[in-house]
Amino acid sequence: MTEKANILLVDDREDNLVALEAILEPLGQNLIRANSGEEALRRLLVHDVAVILLDVQMPELDGFETAALIKQRAKTRAVPIIFVTAISKDEQHVFRGYSTGAVDYIFKPFNPDILRSKVAAFVELYQRGRELQQQAELLRERELVAARRESEQRYRALADAMPQIVWTAGPDGKATYYNRRWFEYTGLEPGPVEGSEWIEFIHPDDLKRTVEHRRETLASGEAFEIEYRIREAGGGYRWHLGRAVPLRRATGEIDFWVGKATDIDAQKRNEHAQDFLLRADDVLAGSLDYRRTLQSVAQLAVSEIADWCAIDLIESDGTIRSLAVTHSDPAKTAFARELRERYPPNQESGAVVETIRTGEPQLVADIPEEAVETAAVDELHLDLLHELGLRSYMCVPLLIRDQTVGAITLVAAESGRRFGDADLRLGQELARRAAIAIDNARLYRQAQERAQAARVLEAVGDGIMLLDADGVIRLWNAAAATITGIRRADVIGRRAAEAWASFAQAAPRVPIGSSGSPAAAETVPIEAGERELWLSISGVDFEDGIVYAFRDLTNERALEEMRQDLVATVSHELRTPLAAIYGSALTLRRSDLQLDEGLQEKLLDVIAEESERLTDIVDDLLLVSQLDAGKRDVQIEQCDAPELVQSVIESARTHLPKGVDVRFERPADLQPVAADSGQLRQVMENLVDNAVKYSPDGGEIRVFLEPADRHLRFAVIDRGLGIPSSERGRIFEKFYRLDPGMTRGIGGTGLGLYICRELVRRVNGRIWVEPNDDGGGSVFYVEIPFAESRVRSAA
Ligand code: ADP
Repeated sequence: MTEKANILLVDDREDNLVALEAILEPLGQNLIRANSGEEALRRLLVHDVAVILLDVQMPELDGFETAALIKQRAKTRAVPIIFVTAISKDEQHVFRGYSTGAVDYIFKPFNPDILRSKVAAFVELYQRGRELQQQAELLRERELVAARRESEQRYRALADAMPQIVWTAGPDGKATYYNRRWFEYTGLEPGPVEGSEWIEFIHPDDLKRTVEHRRETLASGEAFEIEYRIREAGGGYRWHLGRAVPLRRATGEIDFWVGKATDIDAQKRNEHAQDFLLRADDVLAGSLDYRRTLQSVAQLAVSEIADWCAIDLIESDGTIRSLAVTHSDPAKTAFARELRERYPPNQESGAVVETIRTGEPQLVADIPEEAVETAAVDELHLDLLHELGLRSYMCVPLLIRDQTVGAITLVAAESGRRFGDADLRLGQELARRAAIAIDNARLYRQAQERAQAARVLEAVGDGIMLLDADGVIRLWNAAAATITGIRRADVIGRRAAEAWASFAQAAPRVPIGSSGSPAAAETVPIEAGERELWLSISGVDFEDGIVYAFRDLTNERALEEMRQDLVATVSHELRTPLAAIYGSALTLRRSDLQLDEGLQEKLLDVIAEESERLTDIVDDLLLVSQLDAGKRDVQIEQCDAPELVQSVIESARTHLPKGVDVRFERPADLQPVAADSGQLRQVMENLVDNAVKYSPDGGEIRVFLEPADRHLRFAVIDRGLGIPSSERGRIFEKFYRLDPGMTRGIGGTGLGLYICRELVRRVNGRIWVEPNDDGGGSVFYVEIPFAESRVRSAA
């Protein structure tokens, strides 16, 4: 059906317009009226008009002027104008009408039918022209659509050939097209595009910000750009860089969006891996407790690069011990630990054992279904294994200086990850750093232990010397310095053979490889500085060298020697009188001999004297044991010293050997001393006896007394053998004799001076010896407090 045409009726008089409308009504077209030339022009701006009926006589702009203006406009130039006039019937007028472009001239009063048929003819002409024009337009449009379709197909072919994901979307953001790559990547069946299917392929963690950013860019018309993970057909996610730009129409509004997503997964994972390793480093450097830090690393791994992480270490006894088993979900972690306990990694086979045995990493990118089926676990756990959805795993060795100390196992499961070579490299790098941390922690602990051991060694009483593999002294403790008198600074860093040559020669050989079991200690004489020491030495070989421990047994050795001497001396001392007694008794008993009385008397005297000597020796031994046990009582009283000395000397004189004389200068007016008189007598007897005994070549012995401050000093001076200065202290020791071998034939037990010292000490006195400057020999001094001063000081 043709659309209605517009007919413009222009007249300044209302009744004329009404009349024209009445006449043209039956044509069934749109009648548009205008009351003036201006209004007619305005209407023509808005409407397309098939024919204009224009009144000639109008105020202001008349019909001719109006027609002239209409003809000036290109758009209205062709519109037929029929002038309607009542007055201007003259030729000139009519001519003017035609020259302004009128197609007809109608005079009033006019025949309505003629007017109507004339107008109808113009309308039909107009409509015909319109139809033709529309047909032409239609034709052009069809051609256009065909051309566009062709270009779109070409464009799509291009898009399909692209390796990236490409899509288009309408101004509302709904996808209108995806290229082939999209379908290949996502595994979706190519088919009609619904528009928002992409949403379900975005990683849940990236979805919110993606949708928000999309909404913003749709509103602003700015380019859309974002990094997100898109799920691939296998279920894994890969990082993409998504970009979309709007294409606009000439008018400026958005026609559609073109977008593409480029795979940036490798680059992104690399960044992520670097970032992960940095964080792992932080954790590893956090503490020297490597067991704890490795557990933290496992925790970090499950939140970043794997779904499961297990770390196993080799114990010192060679067994594999599980150090960490972790999943980001604590419930699953508990299950895995249980599984680990039930099926520890110490089996014949298995990735961990294999990796630890070979030191080679293992990567299984795709765990075959059957692997789970054949796992050596019971049915309950088998179900659980299925549930875990293990997909891929790798096991990397922890290597310290080419030695495998454990392994890190990383497993991919529910995240849909699948490990590849890049992941294996990351795992190895993680293991490398973890191994360094373990090594550092162990070295530190060893250093600590050594430092502690060194402190202990420093404190022990035995001398400790450590030689390294080259025989250089590396440790020399305080006791070693004290025992030997050799300063640490003089030996450390030097070879033992140079620094302490006599040790190197005399020390017991330590069997190499005796590691841990020291050779039995040997006691050997060794020179150290000026002295000769008896050292008990034991040595043990250990991985870094030899440690020697030595103890100073010089004193014990001397004591031991003394004891041996004593046994010899005492038995000799006992045997001599016994032999005399025995001999005398045998002689007396002989019946075949007639002994004269004098001889008999003499033999009996020998028996009596020697028995007395025996008793003395036994008494001395008894007294020493009582003194040592603190069982000897002391009766302190006032003693008259000159009297006491006088009587000692008198009894000595009864049996002086030839050539010996004892002199005593008895002083007048001496205060009494405070002592046990019996014991003081014993002291003096002993000193005088010794003086006589050790003057084998004879000589005068002098005894004198003199006050010395609060003490009375006794002096016994002989011209005998004398005593070397180095031995002067020692002769007061128990059993000590200058000449234990009795080369000069002078017997004794070595107890006399010991007894003297002990007795003198008990009454707060003192005893010592000095050389006799006047003619050789010795001077023994004894000082005993005066009774007076003792009473006074006590008061
Ligand atoms: P003993 O005389 O029984 O051996 P003593 O204890 O009385 O034991 O003396 C210890 C040692 O001291 C003696 O063996 C001797 O070597 C030395 N001695 C003691 N008195 C003298 C002295 N007057 N002159 C030289 N040496 C002495």
